[in-house]
Amino acid sequence: MLQYVSNKGGGKPVDFETAILDGFAVDGGLYVPETLPTFTTEQLTQWKDLSYTEIAFEILSLFIDRSIISAKELKGVLHDAYAPFEKEEIIPLHKLTSRKETYIMELFYGPTISFKDVGLAFLVNLVNFFLKRRNERLTLVVATTGDTGPATAYFAAGKSNLDAWVLYPKERITEEQERQMTTLPHHNIYPVGVSNCPDGGDDLDLVISKMYKDTAFKEKLKLSSVNSINWGRVLMQTVHYVYGYLQVVDSIGEEINVSVPSGGFGNLCAGSLARKMGLPIKNFIVANNSNACLHRIFSEGVFSKKDIIETPSSAIDILIPFNFWRYLYFCVDKDAQKIKNWMEEFQHSGLVTFDSETYKSYSKGYLSNSATDEETLQIIKEIYTKEGYLLDPHGAVAVLAADAVKNQLGNEKLICLDTAHPAKFPEAIKTALGTTELPLAATHYSIEAERKRCEKVYLCNYSNLKEALFEVMETNWDLKNN
Ligand SMILES: *Cc1c(COP(=O)(O)O)cnc(C)c1O
Repeated sequence: MLQYVSNKGGGKPVDFETAILDGFAVDGGLYVPETLPTFTTEQLTQWKDLSYTEIAFEILSLFIDRSIISAKELKGVLHDAYAPFEKEEIIPLHKLTSRKETYIMELFYGPTISFKDVGLAFLVNLVNFFLKRRNERLTLVVATTGDTGPATAYFAAGKSNLDAWVLYPKERITEEQERQMTTLPHHNIYPVGVSNCPDGGDDLDLVISKMYKDTAFKEKLKLSSVNSINWGRVLMQTVHYVYGYLQVVDSIGEEINVSVPSGGFGNLCAGSLARKMGLPIKNFIVANNSNACLHRIFSEGVFSKKDIIETPSSAIDILIPFNFWRYLYFCVDKDAQKIKNWMEEFQHSGLVTFDSETYKSYSKGYLSNSATDEETLQIIKEIYTKEGYLLDPHGAVAVLAADAVKNQLGNEKLICLDTAHPAKFPEAIKTALGTTELPLAATHYSIEAERKRCEKVYLCNYSNLKEALFEVMETNWDLKNN
């Protein structure tokens, strides 16, 4: 049976269900499969005409033993997870007319209209499935840069065996994103708006990791996380690379390029693993905004933390791409000791300079770019004016990155991932288009509906967040469970 281990080497191997319910490994590392399965050309050929959920079923079956979840149960979880998606294809591809062989993968047709729905739909439903079977409850805690929170809240809302606390940096996310969390009436959803976060969403992760370290608290409230530290997110996100590949190629084996707007590297970690498993992707284009940690990693071989800069693509205003450590594990022959040392070095100094051998092995097949705000807004306008297609700021960062590295690309087809619906970022769209009125393409009925609802939220200050949160979480737990 395929087992899961920590990328830092601590603890014992665990099965898939444990890895999913724990979130973090016992030593604070990230769970990785002991071995990576592979896709053969025959398999990819057989999957060519399958639907998104059918491909998901095939890929998940390579990673999850049938003794953990039967084929019928897994199909049931997938069905329930993707039923609320707006488009039958789940993630449609749109071909741009003003560029050569360029496709936009629209990852925003889930209920909270961002790509986070794609991974969380499955993961939250799966977690609830496991908990029901065990007759247990669990408390999910997530921090968000704007999209993880709404998606977690939506999928956890009303679930029998889950409570969800969603922490967000107030004033750093859009009002539309905030209301997606605060207007859910369900009694098991607790949004927490935190003022004065010095580093945006990254500080909130810090508080959550402190909660995890308080063993008594963690055990009592049965804490877990569905942030992209959870293996289930990364695993599910491998599916859209395979699906997209099969949709655009003329023949299996043909190589393509994929540009990904990246913050925490969860999405690209998944893509990178899909390629290691045999998906023919020639280049990944790592698309950053001015918070360019990943761009520095891939262009200079340096993992360094700088101050946060607010940008129009706020969901990728992330300083520490945590999932890079998960990917790196597979680039250094699964040498967990090396990963542990680097992670500790980074924690102490905020800086790791990789040796040239390591740099060479992880950066092969990656190009990268850091987009300015001005360029981002400019390309939204350009594509809208030329062909009436409206990118959101994150999709814009992806298209821009592909433009920036054009000279290093061949004639392969290109997929740019668009990770959010423009209706989540109305102010950026207005600025980009130079209008005060939003075009229809930047509106969405779900956003309109949530403007009319009441809000329910806890408000805290970052300076005393830990104490305040521990208290209110424990009180709520006691009220519910006594
Ligand atoms: C989370 C998010 C991303 C970045 O994904 P990572 O896995 O953190 O790299 C990009 N765009 C949007 C809209 C997001 O919500």
